Amino acid sequence: MKALQYVEVGRPPEIREVPTPEPGPGEVRVKVSAAGACHSDSFVMGLSEEQYAQFGYPLPMTLGHEGAGVVDALGEGVDAVEVGDAVAIYGPQGCGRCYECAQGKENYCPRAAELGITPPGLGSDGAMAEYVLVRDQRHLVPLGDLDPVRNVALTDAGLTPYHAIVGSLAKLTPGTVAVVIGAGGLGHVAIQILRALTPATVIALDIDDDKLDLAREVGAHHVFTSDEDAPERIRDAVDGAKVAAVFDFVAAQPTVDLGLSLLGTESDLVLVGVGATKADVGMLARPYDSTIRSPYWGSRSELMDVLRLARAGQVSVEVETFSLDEAPQAYHRLHEGTLRGRAVVVP
Ligand code: NAD
Ligand code: ZN
Ligand code: ZN
Repeated sequence: MKALQYVEVGRPPEIREVPTPEPGPGEVRVKVSAAGACHSDSFVMGLSEEQYAQFGYPLPMTLGHEGAGVVDALGEGVDAVEVGDAVAIYGPQGCGRCYECAQGKENYCPRAAELGITPPGLGSDGAMAEYVLVRDQRHLVPLGDLDPVRNVALTDAGLTPYHAIVGSLAKLTPGTVAVVIGAGGLGHVAIQILRALTPATVIALDIDDDKLDLAREVGAHHVFTSDEDAPERIRDAVDGAKVAAVFDFVAAQPTVDLGLSLLGTESDLVLVGVGATKADVGMLARPYDSTIRSPYWGSRSELMDVLRLARAGQVSVEVETFSLDEAPQAYHRLHEGTLRGRAVVVP
């Protein structure tokens, strides 16, 4: 079968012919209908040899941690899904037995690393291929009649912001403001989730006018260029109302500094973008009881919630499609920042 693989650190990913995987006991083979391209893949492929070694992902590795498709072959003992079922793949896979996994929070499984369990496309072979092997049937969530191409990105670009927002939900009361920094793949879904779940005024910041147009189209009340004037524009637009949460889908030093400058007492700065930045903390440095969080992906039941929001028409993903042969271009466009919404590869 054909697969898009990251072969060598520093080299662009390539389409290669690889053996079609056979499901072992407990495993399920899915014929891929759609696979999304995430900025985290670009991040991984942008690492130097030394940085990449810290992750230890074996190469060559098939990319794609957002996957949806049709159950194609069952390993021994698989009884909860049938050949032909339409499914979305829950990516952040854990041991399945610990306290976190028992709650469906496999994204926070403390044993996954030690057991060598890695998500598809982030350590194990992913979904940018004709077929993908899924470790366990519990990682398959029924897609029902949702279109896999339009909804595959909900497995990450929907699930990750959902989990990030749910963690701050109690603070997003009537009259408060939520700020989304970066209206790309994750950010444009975050805006819709905020509108669906909260009464907050939603403000989107980006450095690209096309992304700001998209942000407005999907429901942001106000959109502004992400620069040093943004705090004043926000204050004016909301008449000084409290920014209860900032969701930063960039998390570079300038956006983190901007986010921190917006917080009030008990506000949350939620760093979703991948990075490590610096901030002054403590009683005299920050508004009382303000919080900085860095959530990772989401739980299995949260993925079900996100799919329910999509079924109810409350969340949808703006998609640009690419064939498997064109998949390297999808990453090129992501890297350039010229995509509208999410790039989805359709094998
Ligand atoms: P994307 O490229 O689709 O979107 C990023 C957006 O940020 C773009 O619209 C871009 O114009 C905008 N942007 C760039 N610099 C900016 C700045 N200085 N100020 C404001 N906006 C700016 O990327 P994505 O796939 O949506 O991923 C977003 C981030 O989230 C990445 O860092 C990715 O690695 C990370 N991520 C984290 C998790 C997690 O579990 N925490 C999961 C998925 C992705
Ligand atoms: Zn991702
Ligand atoms: Zn576990």
